[in-house]
Amino acid sequence: MNTETNPSILSSISGFGIGVGDSDAAPQAAPEAGAEPQADSPVREVVIVGSGPAGYTAAVYAARAELKPLVIAGSLDAGGALMTTTDVENFPGFPEGIMGPELMTNMQEQAERFGAELVYEDAVRLQLDGEIKEIETESGEVHRARAVIIATGSAYRKLGLAREDELTGKGVSWCATCDGFFFKDKKLVVVGGGDSAVEEATFLTRFGDVTLMHRRDELRASKAMVRRAENDPKLTIMWNTEVTELHGENALTGLTIRDTVTGKTSQVEADGFFQAIGHLPRTDLVKDQLELDEAGYIAVQGRSTLTNLEGVFACGDVVDHTYRQAITAAGSGCSAALDAERYLLAKDDV
Ligand SMILES: Cc1cc2nc3c(=O)[nH]c(=O)nc-3n(C[C@H](O)[C@H](O)[C@H](O)COP(=O)(O)OP(=O)(O)OC[C@H]3O[C@@H](n4cnc5c(N)ncnc54)[C@H](O)[C@@H]3O)c2cc1C
Repeated sequence: MNTETNPSILSSISGFGIGVGDSDAAPQAAPEAGAEPQADSPVREVVIVGSGPAGYTAAVYAARAELKPLVIAGSLDAGGALMTTTDVENFPGFPEGIMGPELMTNMQEQAERFGAELVYEDAVRLQLDGEIKEIETESGEVHRARAVIIATGSAYRKLGLAREDELTGKGVSWCATCDGFFFKDKKLVVVGGGDSAVEEATFLTRFGDVTLMHRRDELRASKAMVRRAENDPKLTIMWNTEVTELHGENALTGLTIRDTVTGKTSQVEADGFFQAIGHLPRTDLVKDQLELDEAGYIAVQGRSTLTNLEGVFACGDVVDHTYRQAITAAGSGCSAALDAERYLLAKDDV
């Protein structure tokens, strides 16, 4: 993840933001129920909201099934989370690794090759019940579809420190599984106090010495996780400690920390700084219509991508608080397209 800017990637990033495939998908007669039909708005088979690994994989499968999917790709975040990183070394099929934006451009082109259309706008309103769903984008256009796949991902909760964004990929990370490998024999700091923080910290001890910093004097993590942390000889816990500043020019070199009891500040060296303070699934558009689980992710039925509403499917990190990897998101995007295809076939058979 930590590399110089690659000009070929920059060109692929800028290429990524351009272009809108306008719709010439085959219009269909609108089934009776649902929202107020707009006279000139064709009813598509599938609209996919989101263009990360989940959305694009769903688009590849749906397009190859001749469903002519429309992907509402997002405006600023088109391509999803991997657009913000550099080396991706754990996506199968790329033995030398691949840059995040390049991987996403490949997925986009693969989806388009089979006929997926893309609109680089955010969805601003969804109406998901009834036979015909509506998806309104920021330009005011209302798209209609018999099935909708939600693949809006989740964001990492950030501490909000100055220079956090600038040093992302240069020592600042939110994902030990993704980036731990880049920090062999380095000094690592993890912040957080829950199960994920302990999991990230203990995972990272296979690469270097790790300090887990927590702003309170006990962890929120489960007893088993706390025991795991206490028994790990390469893990030190610093209680009542918060990070207030990040140091380093082109890469992270250290942190300013503050004792939350005494208020005293000091500096520590660090090559890697992992924030494990939670995730924010992007459910704003759907939270009043779709059931969410207790952690706020879209609830799906068993191993499927079916939500509580007929014809609405959800995949990727917006449903997944466990794995949160590009390959798992892609896998669930595939499932969502297959679920949508089966749903449409079953409807047509009735
Ligand atoms: C810095 C970084 C490095 C990472 N490195 C790795 C790695 O090395 N390996 C790995 O496996 N994983 C890595 N991950 C995790 C991986 O990126 C995610 O697990 C994966 O991208 C999730 O895919 P997704 O499609 O569910 O969501 P995302 O990739 O987050 O995509 C969500 C999509 O939804 C769109 N969207 C959201 N709201 C709207 C809206 N209202 N209208 C339209 N579109 C919308 C966004 O524009 C975006 O296209 C990394 C993540 C980050 C942040």
